[in-house]
Amino acid sequence: MKYIGAHVSAAGGVENAPLNAMKIGATGFALFTKNQKQWVAKDLSEENIGKFRENMEKGGFSPDAVLPHDSYLINLGHPEEEKREKSLNAFIDEIKRVEQLGLKYLNFHPGSHLKQISEEECLSHIAASLNRAIVASQNTILVIETTAGQGSNLGWRFEQIGSIIDQVENKSRVAVCIDTCHIFAAGYDIRTREGYDRVMADFDSAIGLDYLKAFHLNDAKSGFGSHVDRHHSLGQGNIGWEAFRFIMEDPRNDGIPMILETIEPEIWADEIGKLKELAGY
Ligand SMILES: [Zn+2]
Ligand SMILES: [Zn+2]
Repeated sequence: MKYIGAHVSAAGGVENAPLNAMKIGATGFALFTKNQKQWVAKDLSEENIGKFRENMEKGGFSPDAVLPHDSYLINLGHPEEEKREKSLNAFIDEIKRVEQLGLKYLNFHPGSHLKQISEEECLSHIAASLNRAIVASQNTILVIETTAGQGSNLGWRFEQIGSIIDQVENKSRVAVCIDTCHIFAAGYDIRTREGYDRVMADFDSAIGLDYLKAFHLNDAKSGFGSHVDRHHSLGQGNIGWEAFRFIMEDPRNDGIPMILETIEPEIWADEIGKLKELAGY
């Protein structure tokens, strides 16, 4: 069983996210647990937490089906120590919120070298940040998202993610999310059966399929190998529906959240319906 949903709004309080997911027929969802464009946020109140847990139950969502996303400001590989510390503190706060809500995962973009340090140094900073975040928290699994490699963002080659995981001490606390738009823009072609199989084999050899714990399902406005991150609705971009059929039919992808970050929330219910059909539900 795949958990199929979208990155829904948590406007008015995190407790609204599961209700918004129910409205579009989702069996899983993603959310921001705070404003993703600000460094600090009010702590979650007892009321937020209680209602969130209540609405999770109402919608029949298990923690396995939910993929919180961290703030876009956080850069765990920042070349400057002071800014890296600021990011790490904000990241640990995000983990705390996830744990208060009784969730399991926190999805994040690995980090950027900002053209000031080498790729290797940046990857080591990211791993060191993860090691400290893991020690400072309980049990959240930190889910590294594959990126398009726009600007100086790392995590667009599977080997870069493999290198981070190699340097993480407690490997039971890390996992990976494939964003289909990002990998396509990074040069991984999943448009044909053959291509999809090859990309999954590449992932397995560079990272290990055991670490694959989530998908972001997005078509791409940007071109193949362009390193430009522009999402599109499924079937309307340069990837096309077939790729999503391969993903939904693949039993290796069972039991994990499959999250739309497509650009037209008005058609999320239709997209989810089509994905469920492809999965055979
Ligand atoms: Zn993301
Ligand atoms: Zn994504």
